[in-house]
Amino acid sequence: LQSKLAKLGSSIFSQMSQLAAEQQAINLSQGFPDFAPDNYLLQRLAYHSQHGANQYAPMPGILPLRQQISELVKRCYRRSINPDNEITVTSGATEALFVAIQALVQPGDEVIVFDPAYDSYTPAVQLAGGSTVHLNLQVPDFSVNWQQVAAAITPRTKLIIVNSPHNPTATVFSDADWQALQQLVCQHGLYCLSDEVYEHMVFDGAAQLSAHCYPALAERSFIVSSFGKTFHVTGWKLGYCVAPALLSAEFRKIHQYVTFSSFTPAQYAITDMLAMHPEQVSGLAAFYRQKRDQFVSALGSSRLQLLPSAATYFQLADYSAVSELADVEFCRWLTIEHKVAAIPLSVFYRQPTDARLIRFCFAKTPATLNRAAEVLCQL
Ligand code: PMP
Ligand code: GLN
Repeated sequence: LQSKLAKLGSSIFSQMSQLAAEQQAINLSQGFPDFAPDNYLLQRLAYHSQHGANQYAPMPGILPLRQQISELVKRCYRRSINPDNEITVTSGATEALFVAIQALVQPGDEVIVFDPAYDSYTPAVQLAGGSTVHLNLQVPDFSVNWQQVAAAITPRTKLIIVNSPHNPTATVFSDADWQALQQLVCQHGLYCLSDEVYEHMVFDGAAQLSAHCYPALAERSFIVSSFGKTFHVTGWKLGYCVAPALLSAEFRKIHQYVTFSSFTPAQYAITDMLAMHPEQVSGLAAFYRQKRDQFVSALGSSRLQLLPSAATYFQLADYSAVSELADVEFCRWLTIEHKVAAIPLSVFYRQPTDARLIRFCFAKTPATLNRAAEVLCQL
């Protein structure tokens, strides 16, 4: 068999979680909470599966959920979107990203991505017959150089993929970033795929901005969100994509043959959650800011140098005062010798990088964070 993705092995998240399990290490690598989701949400899932919601959902998602999503987008971003033809519920943000890319990218098209980039973008572009053009976020603050972006646009450029709040750097786009993106997308007739799965986890009073806030950009964007992140249920694999009607129609043509529709009981349970507990969404930033602050403060005496975490549930650390190892080896060593697992950053770059940076996930109980920090302070 000729591999369509010859260079690809299993993802760094699978590798590190597996190693953490083998080593019985504290797993701060793959991003997922180690605490239970809200009890009401679990009860509604049980209720709906016991009351008939066990067959195929409608292809675009159940209408009450799409209506709740429309309300949520209005509350957060003051944008009106039509639940009938502008929202599609998907099996996680991963499916939405994949489908949006298949809907847009033709053989020969170029797609601009920013490194370090989340790992699912490039394979999806390759499967569509396109190629990715990689621009590095700038050191030390991981900002975008928009002049460099403008210079990278060619007649073949079709799409720019952005991710704010950003995994793995925990940075967010400013209003100026969004304006610059909008300007380039509109000027060159490009499209935007905006991965916003950490949208409700923005800290320290920074504005929660989105492609939704920029009308001309939103007209040319697929905007992707994840209930897995927002409601602490990454294993439910439920997300959605918002796009103008014409783009959503193309999106749905593919979605219907990738999964057809997504897990029905979870769609009803999340609908109830959004309707009855909107404070779970609006309070998420404060919830994770507290975890970040606890983790940072517990690492106060560590030789790890912590970078600012402005959003998401990730914390970057520079370990150059601790070790000379390259980051992949360092993460293996940390997991095997000290029983704490983290994610190396170099795997998210196309160009080799010798930055000594690792990512911790702080979506963990206070006890887990304290135990990990105790170990890390000994390094
Ligand atoms: N995009 C980013 C940046 C992510 O971090 C993740 C999840 N780790 C996803 C997309 C995928 O989200 P989901 O689990 O809903 O498929
Ligand atoms: N998004 C998660 C992370 O960044 C991983 C999800 C996955 O394993 N596919 O850790």
